[in-house]
Amino acid sequence: MANYFEKLKLLSTKAYAPYSKFHVSAICLLKDGTEVSGVNIENAAYSVTICAERTCLAQVYTLGYQKADIVKLFLYTDSNQKGSPCGTCRQFLWELIAHDVPLEIYNQKGESYVVTIGDLLPYGFTKEDLQ
Ligand SMILES: [Zn+2]
Repeated sequence: MANYFEKLKLLSTKAYAPYSKFHVSAICLLKDGTEVSGVNIENAAYSVTICAERTCLAQVYTLGYQKADIVKLFLYTDSNQKGSPCGTCRQFLWELIAHDVPLEIYNQKGESYVVTIGDLLPYGFTKEDLQ
């Protein structure tokens, strides 16, 4: 298996994070072996900043892939702490990936853990809730 920690760490240098200096990267592994990347992109108008998980998944869908094509999502945070997707990303992931897809999350020390969006966001809001 590819060394995702090294790939993610290198990818995180492409983050546009002049305000927080907090670099995050994501790689989505697809069934056909394709790897789709994303990094966080900040903005002077902070609220339009987008996280790496969302840039990555937006690209997955842009390329024509769908939920069933996603095998695994790798994340990296430029932190010594255990990283975790923010609340906005949890809701985004809840709708766009299967709830049992493993999320392998690394920090800058190379420590990692595996979790699912089903673990991170029980009782997530769905289109059925709009009925
Ligand atoms: Zn986020």
